Amino acid sequence: MALELAEAHLRGLLAQLGLDAEYVRGEGDTLWWRTASGDEVPVVDFVGGYGSLVLGHNHPEIVAHARELLAGGVPVHAQFSYHPYANDLAAALNRVLWREFGTFEPYSAVFANTGAEAVEVALKHAEMARGARVAALRAEIEEHLADAPADLAARVREHNESRYDTPPVFLTLEGSFHGKLAGSVQLTHNPGYRVPFRALAVPARFVSGGEVAKAVEESRVTVLDVHDGQVVERDLPVVAAFFVEPIQGEGGIHVLDPVVAADIRAVADAHGFPVVVDEIQTGVGRTGKFYAASHVGLLGDYIVLAKALGGGIAKTSVLLVRQSAYVPEFELLHSSTFAKDAFSCHIGSRVVDFLESSDAYARAAARGTALKQALRSVAAEFPTVVADVRGRGLMLGLEFHDQTGAPDPVGELARTGLVGYVVAGYLLNHHRVRVFPTASASHTLRFEPSIGITDAQIDQLVIGLRAVCTALRDNPLTLLPG
Ligand code: PMP
Repeated sequence: MALELAEAHLRGLLAQLGLDAEYVRGEGDTLWWRTASGDEVPVVDFVGGYGSLVLGHNHPEIVAHARELLAGGVPVHAQFSYHPYANDLAAALNRVLWREFGTFEPYSAVFANTGAEAVEVALKHAEMARGARVAALRAEIEEHLADAPADLAARVREHNESRYDTPPVFLTLEGSFHGKLAGSVQLTHNPGYRVPFRALAVPARFVSGGEVAKAVEESRVTVLDVHDGQVVERDLPVVAAFFVEPIQGEGGIHVLDPVVAADIRAVADAHGFPVVVDEIQTGVGRTGKFYAASHVGLLGDYIVLAKALGGGIAKTSVLLVRQSAYVPEFELLHSSTFAKDAFSCHIGSRVVDFLESSDAYARAAARGTALKQALRSVAAEFPTVVADVRGRGLMLGLEFHDQTGAPDPVGELARTGLVGYVVAGYLLNHHRVRVFPTASASHTLRFEPSIGITDAQIDQLVIGLRAVCTALRDNPLTLLPG
């Protein structure tokens, strides 16, 4: 047996749950599983690359374009040169944004490779912009101090000096997920992912939906200024940004409440910090619009896209920044070897063209409705098992009632957060359906198929879910592998 060196520990866990299938081909919403006997078994994929596959696996038009690009010798690496294809993609993303939000302000684009990396780009850009706001305030105060009595100016300076270095505060909602890199993981609420690395970056402040203004108030730090000979307090810009997902994906498929969205926008405007809308999982058409935040009219100052922008083939991500909030000098401080490469930008442009010129948004909405109805029918049949069905378009979740009281080992698995994975193993092995729970709410299954998902594939899921619900109600132990 060959040495197992690529995340062998994880593979071992997957094997225990019957989830270590090897997929050898993908097309649309189907993955072919090569089983131990060498057969290739079709599996309906509702995981959809956790949101990357709005067009499905290996969409023919995207694959054909990739072939064309490679056959034509597209220069994948041409750093520090003019990248018109990146500009074309940025322009296409702007045109969609202007239409969906009814705005005309241009958004500048900084490209990256993955979702978490683009979140880190947003973190860095927001901190650079905040640094400029602090410097501007300091310069203004210094001007006032130049006219103040020397001893007063000295006391004010002494008071302010250490405060100018106050670390930034990044705000985000409870339950949020913004990635797993050193900075971004601090914006990911799940303590399992975040806490071991809390010494590596500033911790975020997690805010409940109703307490946005309160969180900003509690983050308040002031410095002193002198006005007409009087000492006055000025707010130091400590909040660098508010990060928000239009639908929390890994947190359990929670659609952002429009009232909370409006509150975040209003508080950010009042205090002059940017709203970063993380569309990494929601964006690129899945919800029936290109930008999911447009459903609730939340126009971000920054918008982050990744996953489906690469058409299921390229690895790419981008941070869009409203021109009035953009710091051009940032471009000299941030770069990455593969970012803004011709291959990914061309593929991204083709993805946007495809969505814009086909009935893709309408299909996402319609197929989402069909899937939601199917999930609701399961919930109605098993009210003691299914707690909720929610989401928008092709980003749906089905939440099970708390299983922690079920007989062991299912109760035990629920307590360790594994019950969703046991269900996933059962559905794969018994029903040839691939689903996963969300990363931070493991009793919620997430469904993110492509716009091509068929009624027959949804029926296959429903049959599997009925079997799961029957087992959870009557005899949970039958769900366990082996
Ligand atoms: N933000 C959100 C909202 C996500 O859903 C994800 C991935 N699940 C990320 C950030 C991180 O993206 P990546 O895995 O590409 O780093």
